Amino acid sequence: MPLILAAGDPVEIVIDVARRLSESLGLAGVTWHRRYHKPFREADACIKTALQRYGIGVKSHPGYLLTEPWTVQTGSGTPFKVFTPYSKTAQEQLHLSPPEVFPVPKLRGIYLPDDVFADAEYVLDVEAFMGAPEPSWATDTLTKHCTPGEPHAHERFSCFLDSLLSGQSYKELNDVPSRAATSGLSPHLRFGEISPAYLWRETARFADAHPAAAADAWAFLRQLLWRDFAWHRLYYLPEMAEKNVRSQFNEFPWAWSSKADPGASKSAFAHMDMEPDEDARQHLDELAAWQKGETGIPLVDAGMRELWATGTMHNRVRMVVGSWLTKNLGIHWRHGEEWFWDTLVDADYASNPFNWQWVAGCGDDAAPYFRIFNPLLQVEKFDPDGLYVNRWVPERHTPLYPEPMVDVKESRKTALAAYNDIRNVAKG
Ligand SMILES: Cc1cc2nc3c(=O)[nH]c(=O)nc-3n(C[C@H](O)[C@H](O)[C@H](O)COP(=O)(O)OP(=O)(O)OC[C@H]3O[C@@H](n4cnc5c(N)ncnc54)[C@H](O)[C@@H]3O)c2cc1C
Repeated sequence: MPLILAAGDPVEIVIDVARRLSESLGLAGVTWHRRYHKPFREADACIKTALQRYGIGVKSHPGYLLTEPWTVQTGSGTPFKVFTPYSKTAQEQLHLSPPEVFPVPKLRGIYLPDDVFADAEYVLDVEAFMGAPEPSWATDTLTKHCTPGEPHAHERFSCFLDSLLSGQSYKELNDVPSRAATSGLSPHLRFGEISPAYLWRETARFADAHPAAAADAWAFLRQLLWRDFAWHRLYYLPEMAEKNVRSQFNEFPWAWSSKADPGASKSAFAHMDMEPDEDARQHLDELAAWQKGETGIPLVDAGMRELWATGTMHNRVRMVVGSWLTKNLGIHWRHGEEWFWDTLVDADYASNPFNWQWVAGCGDDAAPYFRIFNPLLQVEKFDPDGLYVNRWVPERHTPLYPEPMVDVKESRKTALAAYNDIRNVAKG
Protein backbone atom coordinates (compact mmCIF):
# COMPACT_ATOMS: atom_id res chain seq x y z
CA MET A 1 0.00 0.00 0.00
CA PRO A 2 1.66 3.26 -1.03
CA LEU A 3 1.89 6.41 1.07
CA ILE A 4 -0.78 8.84 -0.10
CA LEU A 5 0.03 12.52 0.29
CA ALA A 6 -2.98 14.75 -0.16
CA ALA A 7 -3.75 18.45 0.00
CA GLY A 8 -7.22 19.97 0.40
CA ASP A 9 -10.22 19.78 2.69
CA PRO A 10 -9.46 16.92 5.12
CA VAL A 11 -13.12 16.00 5.57
CA GLU A 12 -13.70 15.59 1.83
CA ILE A 13 -10.40 13.79 1.31
CA VAL A 14 -10.74 11.24 4.12
CA ILE A 15 -14.25 10.37 2.99
CA ASP A 16 -13.18 10.05 -0.64
CA VAL A 17 -10.08 7.94 0.17
CA ALA A 18 -12.17 5.62 2.36
CA ARG A 19 -14.85 5.33 -0.31
CA ARG A 20 -12.35 4.47 -3.06
CA LEU A 21 -10.55 1.92 -0.88
CA SER A 22 -13.82 0.42 0.21
CA GLU A 23 -14.96 -0.01 -3.40
CA SER A 24 -11.66 -1.43 -4.69
CA LEU A 25 -10.41 -3.45 -1.73
CA GLY A 26 -13.43 -3.95 0.51
CA LEU A 27 -12.15 -1.78 3.37
CA ALA A 28 -12.93 -3.29 6.79
CA GLY A 29 -13.30 0.03 8.56
CA VAL A 30 -11.66 3.32 9.50
CA THR A 31 -10.10 3.96 12.89
CA TRP A 32 -8.43 7.00 14.43
CA HIS A 33 -7.27 8.68 17.62
CA ARG A 34 -9.82 11.07 19.02
CA ARG A 35 -9.12 14.81 18.75
CA TYR A 36 -10.36 17.28 21.34
CA HIS A 37 -10.33 20.77 19.81
CA LYS A 38 -13.84 21.86 18.81
CA PRO A 39 -13.17 22.42 15.07
CA PHE A 40 -11.49 19.01 14.81
CA ARG A 41 -14.22 17.28 16.80
CA GLU A 42 -16.75 18.76 14.42
CA ALA A 43 -14.73 17.65 11.38
CA ASP A 44 -14.33 14.13 12.81
CA ALA A 45 -18.07 13.94 13.52
CA CYS A 46 -18.79 14.87 9.86
CA ILE A 47 -16.38 12.21 8.64
CA LYS A 48 -17.93 9.62 10.92
CA THR A 49 -21.47 10.33 9.77
CA ALA A 50 -20.49 10.32 6.10
CA LEU A 51 -18.54 7.06 6.38
CA GLN A 52 -21.42 5.39 8.18
CA ARG A 53 -23.70 6.55 5.39
CA TYR A 54 -21.46 4.68 2.94
CA GLY A 55 -21.72 1.61 5.19
CA ILE A 56 -18.07 1.90 6.31
CA GLY A 57 -17.44 1.02 9.97
CA VAL A 58 -15.81 3.67 12.14
CA LYS A 59 -14.02 3.33 15.48
CA SER A 60 -12.24 6.06 17.42
CA HIS A 61 -9.88 5.55 20.38
CA PRO A 62 -8.23 7.61 23.09
CA GLY A 63 -4.48 7.99 22.63
CA TYR A 64 -3.35 11.61 22.54
CA LEU A 65 -3.74 12.26 26.27
CA LEU A 66 -3.39 10.40 29.55
CA THR A 67 -6.99 11.18 30.47
CA GLU A 68 -9.79 12.27 28.16
CA PRO A 69 -11.13 15.73 29.10
CA TRP A 70 -14.56 14.57 30.29
CA THR A 71 -13.19 11.76 32.48
CA VAL A 72 -11.70 14.07 35.13
CA GLN A 73 -14.41 16.07 36.90
CA THR A 74 -14.89 17.86 40.22
CA GLY A 75 -17.01 16.20 42.93
CA SER A 76 -20.04 18.08 41.58
CA GLY A 77 -19.45 16.84 38.03
CA THR A 78 -18.09 20.06 36.55
CA PRO A 79 -14.79 20.66 34.75
CA PHE A 80 -11.77 21.82 36.74
CA LYS A 81 -10.44 25.35 36.47
CA VAL A 82 -7.40 25.02 38.73
CA PHE A 83 -4.49 22.67 38.13
CA THR A 84 -3.70 21.39 41.66
CA PRO A 85 -7.07 19.77 42.40
CA TYR A 86 -7.29 18.62 38.77
CA SER A 87 -3.93 16.85 38.94
CA LYS A 88 -4.79 15.26 42.31
CA THR A 89 -7.99 13.76 40.90
CA ALA A 90 -6.33 12.74 37.62
CA GLN A 91 -3.46 11.04 39.44
CA GLU A 92 -5.85 9.10 41.69
CA GLN A 93 -7.70 7.90 38.60
CA LEU A 94 -4.50 6.99 36.77
CA HIS A 95 -3.24 4.98 39.76
CA LEU A 96 -6.52 3.07 39.98
CA SER A 97 -6.79 2.52 36.27
CA PRO A 98 -3.64 3.28 34.25
CA PRO A 99 -4.18 4.20 30.60
CA GLU A 100 -4.03 1.20 28.30
CA VAL A 101 -0.99 0.81 26.04
CA PHE A 102 -1.96 -0.84 22.79
CA PRO A 103 0.59 -2.81 20.78
CA VAL A 104 1.42 -1.35 17.38
CA PRO A 105 -0.67 -3.38 14.89
CA LYS A 106 1.25 -5.39 12.32
CA LEU A 107 0.49 -3.93 8.90
CA ARG A 108 0.05 -6.29 6.02
CA GLY A 109 1.23 -5.21 2.59
CA ILE A 110 -1.72 -4.53 0.31
CA TYR A 111 -1.63 -4.39 -3.45
CA LEU A 112 -3.38 -1.27 -4.65
CA PRO A 113 -4.38 -1.21 -8.32
CA ASP A 114 -2.89 1.82 -10.13
CA ASP A 115 -6.19 3.30 -11.17
CA VAL A 116 -7.79 3.68 -7.72
CA PHE A 117 -6.55 7.25 -7.23
CA ALA A 118 -5.86 8.05 -10.88
CA ASP A 119 -8.42 10.88 -11.07
CA ALA A 120 -8.13 12.12 -7.46
CA GLU A 121 -6.95 15.72 -7.77
CA TYR A 122 -5.97 16.02 -4.11
CA VAL A 123 -3.19 13.38 -4.37
CA LEU A 124 0.32 14.87 -4.46
CA ASP A 125 3.29 13.30 -6.19
CA VAL A 126 5.28 11.74 -3.32
CA GLU A 127 8.58 11.74 -5.21
CA ALA A 128 8.28 15.39 -6.24
CA PHE A 129 7.28 16.30 -2.71
CA MET A 130 10.23 14.47 -1.10
CA GLY A 131 12.65 15.84 -3.67
CA ALA A 132 11.51 19.45 -3.30
CA PRO A 133 14.15 21.84 -1.93
CA GLU A 134 13.85 22.40 1.81
CA PRO A 135 12.11 25.63 2.76
CA SER A 136 14.67 28.19 3.93
CA TRP A 137 13.67 27.94 7.57
CA ALA A 138 14.33 24.19 7.61
CA THR A 139 18.00 24.47 6.73
CA ASP A 140 20.92 25.37 8.92
CA THR A 141 20.46 25.10 12.67
CA LEU A 142 16.88 23.84 12.94
CA THR A 143 17.59 20.52 11.24
CA LYS A 144 20.55 19.97 13.57
CA HIS A 145 18.40 20.40 16.65
CA CYS A 146 15.29 18.60 15.71
CA THR A 147 14.91 14.97 14.67
CA PRO A 148 11.31 14.01 14.06
CA GLY A 149 10.10 10.42 14.16
CA GLU A 150 9.11 7.57 16.42
CA PRO A 151 12.58 5.96 16.80
CA HIS A 152 14.09 9.24 17.96
CA ALA A 153 11.21 9.83 20.39
CA HIS A 154 11.89 6.45 22.02
CA GLU A 155 15.63 7.04 22.06
CA ARG A 156 15.10 10.39 23.73
CA PHE A 157 12.86 8.85 26.36
CA SER A 158 15.43 6.16 27.24
CA CYS A 159 18.19 8.78 27.42
CA PHE A 160 15.99 10.75 29.80
CA LEU A 161 15.46 7.74 32.09
CA ASP A 162 19.21 7.00 31.94
CA SER A 163 19.93 10.57 32.99
CA LEU A 164 17.80 10.04 36.11
CA LEU A 165 19.84 6.93 36.92
CA SER A 166 23.10 8.77 36.51
CA GLY A 167 22.06 11.17 39.26
CA GLN A 168 20.79 14.10 37.16
CA SER A 169 17.80 15.21 39.21
CA TYR A 170 14.79 16.31 37.15
CA LYS A 171 13.22 17.89 40.23
CA GLU A 172 16.27 19.99 41.03
CA LEU A 173 17.42 20.89 37.54
CA ASN A 174 14.31 21.17 35.37
CA ASP A 175 14.29 24.94 35.88
CA VAL A 176 17.91 25.46 34.81
CA PRO A 177 18.02 26.35 31.11
CA SER A 178 21.71 25.57 30.63
CA ARG A 179 21.22 21.95 31.71
CA ALA A 180 19.51 19.45 29.41
CA ALA A 181 17.64 18.04 32.41
CA THR A 182 14.16 17.85 30.91
CA SER A 183 12.92 15.12 28.58
CA GLY A 184 12.70 17.14 25.35
CA LEU A 185 9.67 15.01 24.44
CA SER A 186 7.14 17.79 23.77
CA PRO A 187 7.48 17.82 19.94
CA HIS A 188 7.19 14.02 19.84
CA LEU A 189 4.07 14.13 22.00
CA ARG A 190 2.67 16.92 19.87
CA PHE A 191 2.91 14.87 16.70
CA GLY A 192 1.86 11.55 18.24
CA GLU A 193 5.32 10.01 17.86
CA ILE A 194 5.25 8.66 21.40
CA SER A 195 2.21 7.85 23.45
CA PRO A 196 1.61 9.43 26.87
CA ALA A 197 0.09 6.12 28.05
CA TYR A 198 3.36 4.40 27.19
CA LEU A 199 5.35 7.12 29.01
CA TRP A 200 3.13 6.68 32.07
CA ARG A 201 3.49 2.88 32.15
CA GLU A 202 7.24 2.81 31.54
CA THR A 203 8.06 5.66 33.92
CA ALA A 204 5.93 4.13 36.69
CA ARG A 205 7.74 0.77 36.19
CA PHE A 206 11.06 2.61 36.21
CA ALA A 207 10.11 4.34 39.50
CA ASP A 208 9.27 0.95 41.08
CA ALA A 209 12.54 -0.56 39.93
CA HIS A 210 14.73 2.40 40.97
CA PRO A 211 13.50 3.86 44.27
CA ALA A 212 16.37 6.39 44.37
CA ALA A 213 15.09 7.97 41.13
CA ALA A 214 11.37 7.54 41.88
CA ALA A 215 10.76 11.13 43.05
CA ASP A 216 12.21 12.48 39.80
CA ALA A 217 10.23 10.02 37.71
CA TRP A 218 6.95 11.02 39.37
CA ALA A 219 7.81 14.71 39.06
CA PHE A 220 8.15 14.16 35.30
CA LEU A 221 4.79 12.37 35.11
CA ARG A 222 3.12 15.21 37.01
CA GLN A 223 4.41 17.63 34.33
CA LEU A 224 2.65 15.53 31.72
CA LEU A 225 -0.59 16.30 33.51
CA TRP A 226 -0.15 20.01 32.66
CA ARG A 227 -0.53 18.95 29.05
CA ASP A 228 -3.74 17.07 29.84
CA PHE A 229 -5.00 20.02 31.87
CA ALA A 230 -4.43 22.46 29.00
CA TRP A 231 -6.55 20.16 26.80
CA HIS A 232 -9.16 19.79 29.55
CA ARG A 233 -9.52 23.59 29.58
CA LEU A 234 -9.58 23.93 25.78
CA TYR A 235 -12.20 21.19 25.50
CA TYR A 236 -14.57 23.06 27.81
CA LEU A 237 -13.52 26.53 26.68
CA PRO A 238 -12.65 26.46 22.96
CA GLU A 239 -12.50 30.27 22.91
CA MET A 240 -9.42 30.06 25.17
CA ALA A 241 -7.43 29.87 21.94
CA GLU A 242 -8.17 33.53 21.15
CA LYS A 243 -10.03 35.31 23.92
CA ASN A 244 -9.02 36.28 27.45
CA VAL A 245 -10.43 33.68 29.81
CA ARG A 246 -10.85 36.32 32.53
CA SER A 247 -13.00 38.87 30.75
CA GLN A 248 -11.89 41.82 32.93
CA PHE A 249 -8.66 41.62 30.92
CA ASN A 250 -10.61 42.79 27.87
CA GLU A 251 -10.08 46.25 29.36
CA PHE A 252 -6.33 45.79 29.82
CA PRO A 253 -4.54 48.33 27.60
CA TRP A 254 -2.52 45.80 25.64
CA ALA A 255 -1.18 46.88 22.29
CA TRP A 256 -2.69 44.79 19.53
CA SER A 257 -2.57 45.08 15.79
CA SER A 258 -4.42 42.63 13.64
CA LYS A 259 -2.11 43.67 10.83
CA ALA A 260 1.17 42.86 12.57
CA ASP A 261 2.99 40.42 10.41
CA PRO A 262 4.65 37.86 12.67
CA GLY A 263 8.23 37.24 11.74
CA ALA A 264 8.58 40.40 9.73
CA SER A 265 11.58 42.60 10.28
CA LYS A 266 11.29 46.18 11.50
CA SER A 267 11.15 47.63 8.04
CA ALA A 268 8.70 45.03 6.78
CA PHE A 269 6.22 46.19 9.40
CA ALA A 270 5.88 49.46 7.54
CA HIS A 271 4.18 47.79 4.63
CA MET A 272 1.86 49.57 2.25
CA ASP A 273 -1.56 49.06 3.76
CA MET A 274 -0.45 49.93 7.25
CA GLU A 275 -0.41 53.36 8.72
CA PRO A 276 0.27 52.84 12.37
CA ASP A 277 0.19 55.87 14.63
CA GLU A 278 3.30 56.59 16.66
CA ASP A 279 2.32 54.39 19.60
CA ALA A 280 1.44 51.47 17.37
CA ARG A 281 4.66 51.86 15.41
CA GLN A 282 6.66 51.78 18.62
CA HIS A 283 4.88 48.60 19.74
CA LEU A 284 5.41 46.96 16.37
CA ASP A 285 9.11 47.79 16.55
CA GLU A 286 9.25 46.38 20.05
CA LEU A 287 7.44 43.25 18.91
CA ALA A 288 9.94 42.80 16.06
CA ALA A 289 12.87 43.30 18.45
CA TRP A 290 11.37 40.71 20.82
CA GLN A 291 10.94 38.23 17.97
CA LYS A 292 14.55 38.70 16.87
CA GLY A 293 16.08 38.65 20.36
CA GLU A 294 17.19 42.29 20.32
CA THR A 295 15.39 43.72 23.34
CA GLY A 296 18.51 44.49 25.37
CA ILE A 297 17.38 42.08 28.12
CA PRO A 298 19.89 39.18 27.98
CA LEU A 299 17.67 36.33 29.23
CA VAL A 300 14.81 37.39 26.93
CA ASP A 301 17.12 37.71 23.93
CA ALA A 302 18.78 34.37 24.68
CA GLY A 303 15.40 32.63 24.76
CA MET A 304 14.12 34.25 21.56
CA ARG A 305 17.33 33.41 19.69
CA GLU A 306 17.24 29.83 20.98
CA LEU A 307 13.67 29.57 19.71
CA TRP A 308 14.55 30.82 16.24
CA ALA A 309 17.64 28.60 15.94
CA THR A 310 16.28 25.39 17.44
CA GLY A 311 12.46 25.54 17.32
CA THR A 312 12.30 25.18 21.06
CA MET A 313 12.87 27.11 24.27
CA HIS A 314 13.29 26.06 27.86
CA ASN A 315 10.07 26.31 29.91
CA ARG A 316 11.48 28.76 32.48
CA VAL A 317 12.63 31.06 29.69
CA ARG A 318 9.25 30.79 27.90
CA MET A 319 7.69 32.22 31.06
CA VAL A 320 10.21 35.04 31.25
CA VAL A 321 9.94 36.08 27.57
CA GLY A 322 6.14 35.89 27.82
CA SER A 323 6.06 38.06 30.91
CA TRP A 324 8.41 40.60 29.30
CA LEU A 325 6.24 40.86 26.17
CA THR A 326 2.86 41.10 27.86
CA LYS A 327 3.75 43.01 31.01
CA ASN A 328 6.84 45.13 30.45
CA LEU A 329 6.28 45.84 26.74
CA GLY A 330 2.49 45.87 27.13
CA ILE A 331 1.92 43.84 23.95
CA HIS A 332 -1.06 41.50 23.67
CA TRP A 333 -0.36 37.84 24.49
CA ARG A 334 -1.88 36.81 21.16
CA HIS A 335 1.12 38.30 19.32
CA GLY A 336 3.40 36.14 21.45
CA GLU A 337 1.18 33.11 21.01
CA GLU A 338 1.17 33.57 17.24
CA TRP A 339 4.95 33.89 17.11
CA PHE A 340 5.36 30.75 19.20
CA TRP A 341 2.87 28.98 16.96
CA ASP A 342 4.97 29.86 13.93
CA THR A 343 8.34 28.98 15.43
CA LEU A 344 7.98 26.26 18.11
CA VAL A 345 8.35 22.66 16.96
CA ASP A 346 6.04 21.61 19.82
CA ALA A 347 3.42 24.33 19.10
CA ASP A 348 0.23 22.85 20.44
CA TYR A 349 -3.41 23.97 20.10
CA ALA A 350 -4.01 23.74 23.86
CA SER A 351 -0.66 24.14 25.61
CA ASN A 352 0.32 27.27 23.70
CA PRO A 353 -2.69 29.53 24.41
CA PHE A 354 -3.16 28.00 27.85
CA ASN A 355 0.38 28.89 28.89
CA TRP A 356 0.27 32.30 27.24
CA GLN A 357 -2.88 33.17 29.15
CA TRP A 358 -1.24 31.88 32.33
CA VAL A 359 1.83 34.09 31.75
CA ALA A 360 -0.25 37.13 30.77
CA GLY A 361 -2.38 36.72 33.90
CA CYS A 362 -5.70 36.42 32.07
CA GLY A 363 -6.03 32.62 32.24
CA ASP A 364 -8.32 31.03 34.79
CA ASP A 365 -5.46 29.21 36.48
CA ALA A 366 -3.14 32.22 36.63
CA ALA A 367 -1.80 33.38 39.99
CA PRO A 368 -4.39 35.28 42.05
CA TYR A 369 -1.97 38.23 42.03
CA PHE A 370 -0.38 39.87 38.98
CA ARG A 371 2.98 38.10 38.63
CA ILE A 372 5.65 40.01 36.73
CA PHE A 373 8.91 38.13 36.29
CA ASN A 374 11.98 40.31 36.74
CA PRO A 375 14.29 39.00 33.96
CA LEU A 376 17.39 40.33 35.73
CA LEU A 377 16.59 38.43 38.93
CA GLN A 378 15.52 35.34 36.98
CA VAL A 379 18.92 35.17 35.34
CA GLU A 380 20.67 35.42 38.73
CA LYS A 381 18.54 32.60 40.05
CA PHE A 382 18.40 30.19 37.12
CA ASP A 383 21.53 31.01 35.11
CA PRO A 384 23.93 32.34 37.75
CA ASP A 385 27.07 31.39 35.77
CA GLY A 386 25.62 32.90 32.59
CA LEU A 387 26.13 29.64 30.69
CA TYR A 388 22.79 29.83 28.91
CA VAL A 389 22.79 33.56 28.18
CA ASN A 390 26.42 33.63 26.99
CA ARG A 391 25.71 30.84 24.56
CA TRP A 392 22.99 32.78 22.77
CA VAL A 393 24.03 36.39 23.41
CA PRO A 394 27.82 36.32 23.19
CA GLU A 395 28.00 40.08 22.55
CA ARG A 396 26.13 41.01 25.73
CA HIS A 397 29.11 42.71 27.39
CA THR A 398 30.20 44.62 24.30
CA PRO A 399 29.06 47.99 22.88
CA LEU A 400 27.24 46.05 20.14
CA TYR A 401 24.57 44.96 22.58
CA PRO A 402 21.59 47.36 22.79
CA GLU A 403 20.29 49.07 25.91
CA PRO A 404 16.95 47.71 27.19
CA MET A 405 14.04 49.08 25.12
CA VAL A 406 12.13 49.88 28.29
CA ASP A 407 13.22 50.29 31.88
CA VAL A 408 12.59 47.14 33.94
CA LYS A 409 11.26 48.96 37.02
CA GLU A 410 9.27 51.69 35.26
CA SER A 411 7.55 49.26 32.89
CA ARG A 412 6.68 47.04 35.84
CA LYS A 413 5.04 50.00 37.58
CA THR A 414 3.04 50.85 34.45
CA ALA A 415 1.82 47.25 34.14
CA LEU A 416 0.83 47.09 37.80
CA ALA A 417 -1.07 50.39 37.50
CA ALA A 418 -2.94 49.06 34.44
CA TYR A 419 -3.78 45.90 36.35
CA ASN A 420 -5.07 47.89 39.34
CA ASP A 421 -7.32 49.87 36.99
CA ILE A 422 -8.98 46.77 35.54
CA ARG A 423 -9.20 45.15 38.97
CA ASN A 424 -11.04 48.21 40.29
CA VAL A 425 -13.34 48.27 37.25
CA ALA A 426 -14.17 44.63 37.88
CA LYS A 427 -14.94 45.33 41.54
CA GLY A 428 -16.88 48.53 40.88
C1 LIG B 1 4.32 30.83 26.98
C2 LIG B 1 4.44 29.31 26.93
C3 LIG B 1 4.05 28.63 25.78
C4 LIG B 1 4.13 27.23 25.73
N1 LIG B 1 3.74 26.59 24.58
C5 LIG B 1 3.80 25.22 24.55
C6 LIG B 1 3.39 24.54 23.37
O1 LIG B 1 2.94 25.11 22.38
N2 LIG B 1 3.50 23.17 23.35
C7 LIG B 1 3.97 22.47 24.45
O2 LIG B 1 4.06 21.25 24.39
N3 LIG B 1 4.32 23.11 25.58
C8 LIG B 1 4.26 24.45 25.67
N4 LIG B 1 4.66 25.09 26.81
C9 LIG B 1 4.97 24.29 28.00
C10 LIG B 1 6.44 23.88 28.22
O3 LIG B 1 7.29 24.99 28.06
C11 LIG B 1 6.91 22.75 27.30
O4 LIG B 1 5.98 21.69 27.32
C12 LIG B 1 8.26 22.22 27.77
O5 LIG B 1 9.23 23.24 27.74
C13 LIG B 1 8.68 21.06 26.90
O6 LIG B 1 9.97 20.61 27.25
P1 LIG B 1 10.18 19.11 27.72
O7 LIG B 1 9.48 18.17 26.81
O8 LIG B 1 11.65 18.93 27.91
O9 LIG B 1 9.43 19.12 29.13
P2 LIG B 1 9.53 18.18 30.40
O10 LIG B 1 9.92 19.03 31.57
O11 LIG B 1 10.34 16.97 30.14
O12 LIG B 1 8.01 17.78 30.67
C14 LIG B 1 7.41 16.60 30.14
C15 LIG B 1 6.19 16.94 29.32
O13 LIG B 1 5.20 17.54 30.15
C16 LIG B 1 4.44 18.47 29.38
N5 LIG B 1 4.53 19.80 29.99
C17 LIG B 1 5.49 20.26 30.80
N6 LIG B 1 5.20 21.54 31.19
C18 LIG B 1 4.05 21.88 30.58
C19 LIG B 1 3.23 23.04 30.57
N7 LIG B 1 3.52 24.13 31.28
N8 LIG B 1 2.10 23.02 29.81
C20 LIG B 1 1.76 21.94 29.08
N9 LIG B 1 2.49 20.80 29.06
C21 LIG B 1 3.61 20.77 29.80
C22 LIG B 1 5.04 18.49 27.97
O14 LIG B 1 4.28 17.62 27.16
C23 LIG B 1 6.45 17.94 28.20
O15 LIG B 1 7.00 17.31 27.06
C24 LIG B 1 4.60 26.50 26.87
C25 LIG B 1 5.00 27.21 28.02
C26 LIG B 1 4.93 28.59 28.04
C27 LIG B 1 5.34 29.30 29.31
